[in-house]
Amino acid sequence: MIELKNISKLYESKEGNVLALKNISLTVDKGDIYGIMGLSGAGKSTLIRCINLLEKPTSGEVRIDGIDLTKLSPNNLRKCRRDMGMIFQNYHLLTSRTVEKNVAYPLELDGMKKDEIKIRVHQLLELVGLQDKKNHYPSQLSGGQRQRVAIARALATNPKILLSDEATSALDPITSRSILNLLREINEKLDITVVLITHQMEVIQQICKKVAVLKDGEIVERGCVNQIFKTP
Ligand code: ADP
Ligand code: ADP
Repeated sequence: MIELKNISKLYESKEGNVLALKNISLTVDKGDIYGIMGLSGAGKSTLIRCINLLEKPTSGEVRIDGIDLTKLSPNNLRKCRRDMGMIFQNYHLLTSRTVEKNVAYPLELDGMKKDEIKIRVHQLLELVGLQDKKNHYPSQLSGGQRQRVAIARALATNPKILLSDEATSALDPITSRSILNLLREINEKLDITVVLITHQMEVIQQICKKVAVLKDGEIVERGCVNQIFKTP
């Protein structure tokens, strides 16, 4: 479903050039929960952002269901991106909008009718367990609740893929676990493929089926989680 082929990313600036990704190839199958692990600066964030082309690779192909996103016109790229939701460490919620309005936002952009939006938002808030908070503002919520809103919003347009950029890194261990359980539920119930990046091995061990370990822009190890982290 996701195929990265020979991806390189060079950041050029006056301070000097950084080769953040070095000829990376990676395949993620439909239904996977795929973890990309590595230390800070390894290139994880660059890599996951290459999947939806938030970052454009310097060279290489990004194929989603066979289509190379790097070759698409801006308009067609926008359409393909609707198949990918993304969540972030710092949630990226709209502070001036209520929970309900945050989740409705991508649907409004899509031009969905008001009464349909209401029904869809209701379903999404039920899925993440936040129906009773729909009129709250993000500032009135805990970190875990904010991430649940972000997840509901990311799923609003029915994506096939959910990308998670350190989504649990700012949360305490118990909250982190509950968010990871929610991601697993989404993977299983909604048949959504999940790709996540993290610097924490616990996250990988808790929910990932497969893992790639990134170091200095290269994949140094990859495989099934229970094989890679086998305790001798
Ligand atoms: P990680 O997510 O694993 O911490 P990143 O992908 O953020 O790694 O960064 C990989 C490398 O690329 C680092 O050396 C980082 O400093 C560099 N880098 C990331 N973004 C930029 C940018 N916009 N401009 C220049 N260098 C960058
Ligand atoms: P930071 O540098 O603080 O991590 P980002 O640069 O990752 O922030 O933020 C990228 C922005 O692009 C976000 O505000 C996000 O909402 C937006 N964005 C664009 N396309 C997408 C997409 N397909 N999925 C999710 N967010 C997207």
